[in-house]
Amino acid sequence: MSQAVYQQIKELREQIDLHNYEYYTLDRPTISDFEFDQKLKKLQELEDQYPEYFDENSPTQRVGGAITKNFETVVHEHRMYSLENSYSKEDLVEWENRIQRILGDVPIEYVCELKYDGASISITYENGKLVRAVTRGDGFQGDEVTANVKTIRSVPLLLKGNYPEKFDIRGEIILPFAGFEKMNQALIDIGEEPYSNPRNTASGSLKLQDSAEVAKRPLDCLLYYVIGERLPFETQFESLEAARSFGFKVPKEARLVKNLDGVFEYINYWDTHRHDLPYETDGVVVKVNNFNHQQELGYTAKSPRWAMAYKFKSEQATSRLLSIAYQVGRTGAITPVANLEPVQLAGTIVKRASLHNADQIAKLDIRVGDEVFVEKGGEIIPKIISVAKRGNEKFPTLYITHCPECNTELIRKEGEAQHYCPNFYGCPPQIIGRIEHFISRKAMDIEGLGGETVALLYKNGLIENYADLYTLKVEQILPLERMAQKSAENLVSGVENSKLIPFERVLFALGIRYVGETVAKKLAKHYQNIDALQQASFMDLVMVDEIGERIAQSVIDFFANQKNQQIIERLKSYGVRFELDEAPEKLSDKLVGKIFVVSGVFAKFSRDELKKAIEDNGGKVGSSISAKTNFVVAGDNMGPAKLEKATKLGVPIISEDDFVGMLA
Ligand code: AMP
Ligand code: ZN
Repeated sequence: MSQAVYQQIKELREQIDLHNYEYYTLDRPTISDFEFDQKLKKLQELEDQYPEYFDENSPTQRVGGAITKNFETVVHEHRMYSLENSYSKEDLVEWENRIQRILGDVPIEYVCELKYDGASISITYENGKLVRAVTRGDGFQGDEVTANVKTIRSVPLLLKGNYPEKFDIRGEIILPFAGFEKMNQALIDIGEEPYSNPRNTASGSLKLQDSAEVAKRPLDCLLYYVIGERLPFETQFESLEAARSFGFKVPKEARLVKNLDGVFEYINYWDTHRHDLPYETDGVVVKVNNFNHQQELGYTAKSPRWAMAYKFKSEQATSRLLSIAYQVGRTGAITPVANLEPVQLAGTIVKRASLHNADQIAKLDIRVGDEVFVEKGGEIIPKIISVAKRGNEKFPTLYITHCPECNTELIRKEGEAQHYCPNFYGCPPQIIGRIEHFISRKAMDIEGLGGETVALLYKNGLIENYADLYTLKVEQILPLERMAQKSAENLVSGVENSKLIPFERVLFALGIRYVGETVAKKLAKHYQNIDALQQASFMDLVMVDEIGERIAQSVIDFFANQKNQQIIERLKSYGVRFELDEAPEKLSDKLVGKIFVVSGVFAKFSRDELKKAIEDNGGKVGSSISAKTNFVVAGDNMGPAKLEKATKLGVPIISEDDFVGMLA
């Protein structure tokens, strides 16, 4: 029996590894997502049931879970060098001349690769198994981030083919544009600040403590260099092809060329086509192909003499840093912004550039008065690349410690790049930002009122929170700057009309952290009105389908606050809707008052169909089993943990057919 189980586990692992490889590395899936999920689920269940067959390299481990409190420093067995940069073809000709002075006048073949813009990583494999992944750090030593790197689906945990016994492989962890945009949309939906660019987000991801969080990020890993003792390769190109055959993702764009002309052709091609790539690249890396040549050339203090980065021209200009301003967002996040001497760049006049966060300022070591290089890349806001010339400032920039708007001491959460002002209720931009969110189109959609007017009303003491909007009178607004009779009337009637906005949008408008449009809909549907929601305990909330602990806690905190309670009472008294107008269209009331938890795979329904059937008949769907659960509807492969819990709490477990019977 146990031999058969082990055999089944082993086969599933091999199949899933193969499908992962086809999907994430080759980009050529051969089964549907659904079939894949089924296999993974089956494997997970077998592993839960037979813990003696645990394997840290099982594909189930990709979902993460390991927490790293402190990243251990690891010395690189082979130093991780930087690359010298070049910006023109002349630079490359000169480089070849230098090479030929050392190697003599021999023909030199080159490998051209794209320069991937992410976070560099060195991964060690022994006997075909991933044993360690370390960040570049200062090149001599980096941080061990193995648990996080293992969650990246395109990084093989087990190698295939004829791999060397022990080697390191280097590459770049990147976040493709599509995934980056998806992550940002999700943040915007819950009222969080979006990330500023894929590269920083990729490198920040590597240092998250919770690998399960990393697993959720659509990271990718592109490899470009194999290094070790006595490796059986003679050229860079051969080693890339070999790495590919071991299962690594080596971008197919790499080319072997006969001479510098070939290099120029490659550069010309990618200079125009790089925008079609699914990820960011800022140049080309040219490497001498022959390893004997490489050895003879050796290294300078910082970089190999056998490789050269060629940076694509993006429009750059120099300017002077006049000051650093610190902006405070709706959620209290602080963003430093550089005020620059106005300069012409890519057809526009640039006066400001993003500085992202404290780490970025420290990394650039940028000081007021410095002459800086400004660049306009893919992002809309230009960025500062580096300091061109130091000004008069003798000391590094000190990041602010207190909020520039309300003087509250700033906080910075573990693992987060951004500083925050915690003075949620007293900090003007946060107050204004919340009101702006309240009136926005997807929320209360108040016509005749825009961001500037909100700020104006606030500064004139007419509003302090969004409930105050409902007491505004035309006579109060008229005396304000640029306010005509007509616009004042529009504003008041816009506020009046917002009393018709349905409950779920009101709930979204309240600006509860992590409660985006979709979550607001879920909560509104589940609780029907604000009183029920307000009374819900943490345990009640996490039982709601798709509501996690972070959201639950945020909802609890919001309603526990007296100011919020008062504001809600006032909004109610003005006639803002705090309950769903009509109960959702129901097929029947047969399941009213009953809470169901759904587990396993079903024959007649998909999971979503089953959930919908429960709700359409007046029942509720919970996400986890508790004493309040009335029934667990169990399909095939119900999770053992759920089974145990249901049995312990005496919650009846019913089959799909029993459920259909309840509706009959
Ligand atoms: P820099 O950070 O500008 O010194 O550039 C060096 C870095 O470029 C290396 O540490 C790698 O992380 C990165 N890089 C990206 N693509 C490649 C590539 N194809 N070959 C070598 N290094 C690369
Ligand atoms: Zn503040």
